[in-house]
Amino acid sequence: MFLSIDFEDFNYDFKVKFSEANDPPLKTDALWKKYNLINEFLCRNGKNNGRFITFFCTAILAEKAPDLIRHISKDGHEIACHYYQHDIMENQSITKVETTLRRAKSILEDASQTEVIGFRAPYFKINKITPEQYLAVERCFDYDSSYYCQSTEELKKFKENMGLTQLKILPVFSKSFAGKNLRLGGTFLKLFPQFYCLFLAQKAREVGITPHIYLHPYEFGVSEEFRVSREELNKLGFGHFKSLYWQYRQSQWLTVRNASTVTKLEKLLKIYQLRGTLRDNMDHIFI
Ligand SMILES: [Zn+2]
Repeated sequence: MFLSIDFEDFNYDFKVKFSEANDPPLKTDALWKKYNLINEFLCRNGKNNGRFITFFCTAILAEKAPDLIRHISKDGHEIACHYYQHDIMENQSITKVETTLRRAKSILEDASQTEVIGFRAPYFKINKITPEQYLAVERCFDYDSSYYCQSTEELKKFKENMGLTQLKILPVFSKSFAGKNLRLGGTFLKLFPQFYCLFLAQKAREVGITPHIYLHPYEFGVSEEFRVSREELNKLGFGHFKSLYWQYRQSQWLTVRNASTVTKLEKLLKIYQLRGTLRDNMDHIFI
């Protein structure tokens, strides 16, 4: 089994999303705290190479908190790229995408003092209909982990359609259910009961894909420290109802059932051992 973390600052990204002119401070202390929790979890639960995982980091973190990225890298984890800002690249021009990919990679390499060879698009949203954006990823990176699928046939067809020859696609397994693509990670892992997570991991293995869980720092236990407060929502110009809505949504991400994530992970890792970073396992992602 693989575990990867989309290492991003929920509070910062929320404020930037709703006010692009804004350049809010990072929640650096909260990010350090979450990283330490994740690392301690891995010390307890990851045996041998499974002690190390991949962190897909937004480059803005590396720009504003390079010590943190360097520290994660020095601990032996892989630093991979999660774009520059946590924005949706799907509809961006190919020039903007390629410039941003190269800039993000270079900032992350400077901070981590390692070569950055992996990429995951924010929200898994990269244009998967026409190949231009994927070909730009292929020009910058060795592997991509923005794709989810139900079978290896689906993956093979996708690679052909995109015309990819060099780029390795390390997919996250997903299962269609009631019109949704359920995955082993994020909100899905939080909300679904333990038996469902085991079921999904088993299904991934049956089709020959190593189960891969992805999480965010704010899902690792309760994370009120990342919340955008009511006063801050007011400053962003949110009206009463919009503010109420986003307070509720933030609770869904930062609080509700967050305490269960670590327990579920611990149970899953008793059955499926972690295999290490994606960088070190590019050729063993399929069972
Ligand atoms: Zn993300």
